Amino acid sequence: MADSTERKARSTIHAGGEWLEAVSGATRDILDPADAEPFAVVAEGDEKDADRAVEAARRAFDGGEGAWPRTPVAERAALLRRVAALLVRDRERLGLMESRDAGKTLEEGRIDVDCVADAFRYFADLVAAEAPGRVVDAGSPDIHSVVVHEPVGVCALITPWNYPLLQASWKIAPALAAGDTFVIKPSEITPLTTVALIELLVEAGLPAGVANIVTGPGHTVGARLAEHPDVDLVSFTGGLASGTKVARAAAPTVKKVALELGGKNPNVVFADACATDEGFDTAVDQALNAAFIHSGQVCSAGSRLIVEESVHERFVTELARRARKIRLGRGTEPGVECGPLVSEQQRAKTESYVDSALAEGAVLRCGGRRPDPADDRPAGGYFYEPTVLDHCNRQMRVVREEVFGPVLTVETFRTEHEAVALANDTEYGLAGAVWTADAGRARRVAGRLRHGTVWINDFHPYLPQAEWGGFGRSGTGRELGPAGLAEYRETKHVYQNLAPRPVRWFAG
Ligand code: NAD
Repeated sequence: MADSTERKARSTIHAGGEWLEAVSGATRDILDPADAEPFAVVAEGDEKDADRAVEAARRAFDGGEGAWPRTPVAERAALLRRVAALLVRDRERLGLMESRDAGKTLEEGRIDVDCVADAFRYFADLVAAEAPGRVVDAGSPDIHSVVVHEPVGVCALITPWNYPLLQASWKIAPALAAGDTFVIKPSEITPLTTVALIELLVEAGLPAGVANIVTGPGHTVGARLAEHPDVDLVSFTGGLASGTKVARAAAPTVKKVALELGGKNPNVVFADACATDEGFDTAVDQALNAAFIHSGQVCSAGSRLIVEESVHERFVTELARRARKIRLGRGTEPGVECGPLVSEQQRAKTESYVDSALAEGAVLRCGGRRPDPADDRPAGGYFYEPTVLDHCNRQMRVVREEVFGPVLTVETFRTEHEAVALANDTEYGLAGAVWTADAGRARRVAGRLRHGTVWINDFHPYLPQAEWGGFGRSGTGRELGPAGLAEYRETKHVYQNLAPRPVRWFAG
């Protein structure tokens, strides 16, 4: 089987066990966001390539006795563990590739690879430990009734550019654990590590046709996968606008749809969390992490700071002082704390949100511009300074919509009731945090937040064994945890009559 060392650079489409160029022969340059220079080339697939890959996945799913859906669970789990081991082996290579492609720091790239290996191990353990079905009491000794789970079929997996490898693993690992076959379409901006992951699946011994990848744009490859009649499930992670298009395209064939969309995530800080110097320092430090890690290009970024009025000035002054000192640069440079934005388009979008916020009355406390070109940073990179906008309110576009850049808005409250109301006043509902020293208040507020993940005195951590997903327009369905495996399955009730007799419903 060809691997990356044998295949041609532009053969990044994998269908039915073959590494292929696009049917059209088209290619795309992949840019390094730190200097806007091309550093790799991939196949630019279209609808024809999507069709070819779905056909391969369908054949692999519908195949005979030895086909993946009928492979014993222990063998499927063993394969996932081999993939985890290969990820550990290739940690440095993949971490570097992710850093270069997505513009994150090398350390973040390495952590992503660790998390990806964890996801493969988690789903291997989960599926291996499961009971094969649930016997149901049918109320009669002559009835044997059991509920079993079966693979859903051919899955279309569509992923974004901010955590390319991680988001791919949250879909691929449960899909394989469940016995599905799939076609993945990574973001056209950052496809490289997903191609590398498919190579590792091949190296781990996955049969041909089970894992397929088509590199190419959303409006062609992604749209075709979403509507394709031979696809049984589409799992999409990305923005609200594309997610609604996917749901619409999938509707006529009534396929299962899972959507992991954006967020506008509140970080609520009560004054009592800042009562000691240590508490204050921790809350400020974590507010910076919440907003600026990966330059704010995180679905769960804490981009709305909602801080109690009595500590507002002290808190924001210290936050802005530290935000000004964040070191920007190429993610692979030692000491760099924030890389560039992923593209010129992403930076332009960020700038337009800051402009609109200032026009609507927000007060700039730091950032709000591209860094000085005289600083020693690669020319041409899509850098933007961490930005704190004070005196914001819910009428502002920057507070309501997802910026997906290094922009933190600040709102204030006086009462717990007001804090909860502000935190819930969003059409999204992905994640949120509450900072307080009062244990009762922490649980009260956590219980009232309408968000899929709530952190108390922390921000950002997730666990592969705990479900991830959103309320409201942050999506439908869940990834990770047992529900993240259930997404990739159908549930079947098998009812057996051990002593069949005529029922005589009809007299004749
Ligand atoms: P995007 O919606 O532009 O693209 C996501 C993917 O969808 C890409 O692969 C793209 O090519 C594809 N796509 C675009 N249009 C499509 C269409 N009509 N049909 C099918 N596929 C299509 O999102 P992005 O800019 O790559 O990523 C950023 C977004 O992802 C943010 O909104 C972020 O919050 C979200 N995100 C959510 C989570 C989560 O867990 N909820 C995680 C990471 C990112």
